[in-house]
Amino acid sequence: MRVDKRRNKMMKIKAIFSCIIVLFVTSITFAQHNHGAGGQGQGATMEELLPPHGGQLEDLGKYKIELVTNLYQKKNQLTFFLFKGELKPVSTEGIVGVISLLYANGTVFKDTLDKVGTEFFVGSINSTESFMLTVEFTIKKKVITTFYTHEGIGKISVYTCSMHPEIESGSPGDCPKCGMELIPMDKPEEKQEESHGQGHNHNH
Ligand SMILES: [Zn+2]
Repeated sequence: MRVDKRRNKMMKIKAIFSCIIVLFVTSITFAQHNHGAGGQGQGATMEELLPPHGGQLEDLGKYKIELVTNLYQKKNQLTFFLFKGELKPVSTEGIVGVISLLYANGTVFKDTLDKVGTEFFVGSINSTESFMLTVEFTIKKKVITTFYTHEGIGKISVYTCSMHPEIESGSPGDCPKCGMELIPMDKPEEKQEESHGQGHNHNH
């Protein structure tokens, strides 16, 4: 009898452990998917959701947050869009957003986000240097938070895909067509010459 009890306990522990491992592996896959380390991101189960405004989309399960820089060419502003489920816009009503930026020189800058109608949130930044950003939204007492790194607003304003020059984004991220990491585009005016002939070069 005692042995049986012990074995039960062992099996319980085993079950708990395998749960933890599954969770762990899932979160790793998830993280890799978001940051597109290897490019192709064959996340099979996760259907690729495109950032509706060409920004950086972070999937937090129930909610998604899109960070957009350079919206309306405002370099000193960060714009945040909130979505639910399959990119259903969430009204800003009753939601409080706070950002905290850490610049490379160690300066910390905090700001409460302003609302633009019920559509999106804006936060101001006081430098165009590269930064790490934490954003936190309180939605009906539930707090969601995510983290971004940004190379700085002033230095690089347009990112593109080496395979899809027609893709232009105001912030780093993955190509919505092939998942490759976007590269900074230094001379936006030259891209027109490059774009002929190689626009449909898919090798999936
Ligand atoms: Zn691409």
